[in-house]
Amino acid sequence: MDQLLIALDVDSSARAMELADELRDVVGGFKIGSRLFTAEGPTLVNRLVDRGDRVFLDLKYHDIPSTVASAIRAASALGVWMVTVHASGGVAMMRAAREAAEETRDSTRVVGVTVLTSFDEAACGEVGITRPVADQVDALAGLALRAGIDGIVASPLELGRLRALCGPDFLIVTPGIRQRAADDDQSRTLGPKAAVRAGASYLVVGRPIIAADAPRAAAEEICAEMSSA
Ligand code: C5P
Repeated sequence: MDQLLIALDVDSSARAMELADELRDVVGGFKIGSRLFTAEGPTLVNRLVDRGDRVFLDLKYHDIPSTVASAIRAASALGVWMVTVHASGGVAMMRAAREAAEETRDSTRVVGVTVLTSFDEAACGEVGITRPVADQVDALAGLALRAGIDGIVASPLELGRLRALCGPDFLIVTPGIRQRAADDDQSRTLGPKAAVRAGASYLVVGRPIIAADAPRAAAEEICAEMSSA
C-alpha cells in the first residue's frame, strides 16, 4: 500500500533494517526522524535507498533559507524521497526548499509541518501566537501553498478542513492513526479508513505496527482498512 508510511521510531539501524525487511513489500516507505537519524545518520538512509525504499526524512528543518536549501540538497543527494520543514520558517524559506528539491531529476518532495500537535493554545500563547490553533494551522498551510511546496503534515482531525482549503493535489501527510483507542500519547486520532476518506495522501504509522507482536500482520490489517476507504 503506497500510501502507508512506517515511522521507524527505533534506536538502532539493526532494528530499523529488520523492520524494513519485514515490511518493505507491504508498505510505501519509511520515516526516519531525528532520534534515529542522530544515532545512525546517512548510512542508514543509504542502506534503505540502496534496497529501493522510499525514505521520508522527518528532520523538520527550520533555519535561514540558504541553510535549509543546502540541507535539502544533501538529503536529495542521499536519495531521500520526502523531507519536512517547519512552515513557520516562512515563505522565503519554503521557496528555497522547493527550489533546492527541484534541482534533482526525481525531485525530493517537501512537506511543511504546521503546528506541532504538542502545542495547545497555552503553548502557542507562550511563543506569541494569540489566534486559535486551527487558524494558525490554516494560515501556515496557506503559506506552504504560496511557497509552492508539495504539501503539509496535519493531524487527522484537521484533514477535512485542510483538504478543502488546499485542494485535491496538495499532499497531506497524517500521523496519529489508531485503529482503536490506544494507551499512549496520541489523543487526536482517527482510524486508517476514516483518514483516507477524509483526504489524507499518506498515513504515517509507528507504534501500532512497529510495537506489534507481528508487525507485518499489523501492517496488512491497516492496508486492508485503507483499501476499503
Ligand atoms: O507511533 P505513532 O503511530 O504515534 O507514530 C507517529 C509518528 O508521527 C511518530 O514518528 C511521531 O513523531 C510523528 N508525528 C506525530 N505527530 C505530529 C507529527 C509527527 O505523531 N504532529
